[in-house]
Amino acid sequence: MTPAPPRGARTRAKLTVERLAKLYPAVTELVHENPFQLLIATILSAQTTDRSVNLVTPELFRRYPTAEELAAADPAEVERLIKPTGFFRAKTQRIIAASRKLVELFGGEVPKTMEDLIKVPGIGRKTANVILGAGFGVPGFAVDTHVIRLTNRLGLVKTRDPVKIEYQVCSMVPEEEWTALSLRLILHGRRVCDARRPRCEECALNDFCPSSLTRPNRRMRRGRPIGEAPNSDIKLA
Ligand code: SF4
Repeated sequence: MTPAPPRGARTRAKLTVERLAKLYPAVTELVHENPFQLLIATILSAQTTDRSVNLVTPELFRRYPTAEELAAADPAEVERLIKPTGFFRAKTQRIIAASRKLVELFGGEVPKTMEDLIKVPGIGRKTANVILGAGFGVPGFAVDTHVIRLTNRLGLVKTRDPVKIEYQVCSMVPEEEWTALSLRLILHGRRVCDARRPRCEECALNDFCPSSLTRPNRRMRRGRPIGEAPNSDIKLA
């Protein structure tokens, strides 16, 4: 059973939606022209930056523009093209296997439902939600490492389980905001709420974030701010 969100989480979720909407566009930084390209780019983005994926995908998609063509690709050639993204042998296997499954099950098209997307090897709920939201405009809340960190620091959830986070946040936020909120949390995690050194002093969520290190008039007890989110991962010096 999914536990109830922490106290005050709904109000913080509402404020988070409003503030981040003023700061960031609701976009993925993975360059793509269609759902197939987004699916492949998302698989390639594991353990690397979107920037390094964007460097290799133009040539990859020029050589293999469809699932049929990538399914029949020479792995050595694909490895060469995607090498800069790291883990290139495993990723080559994954994108070829995913393309083959798209051909086998869906006629080479990317399916539009969670149920079908997770039948494709290499596609979990996170990737499926990215594809649904950014590829088809179907509301989906993708939970990656940034979203896990930020939703906990902001006191929206008290769990690191991606599925529980997805259900809890979706229960507090209107459906039409799911995709945008996930994309914006990822951008905020990359630019401000860094895993090791959160820049709380310049954060637009500072005044209500229970993990903020710089909230005005914050009282301290035993070196930790009073009211800190119980599962905040921020360690004070
Ligand atoms: S106030 Fe600090 S911990 Fe809270 S979201 Fe902003 S950067 Fe992250």
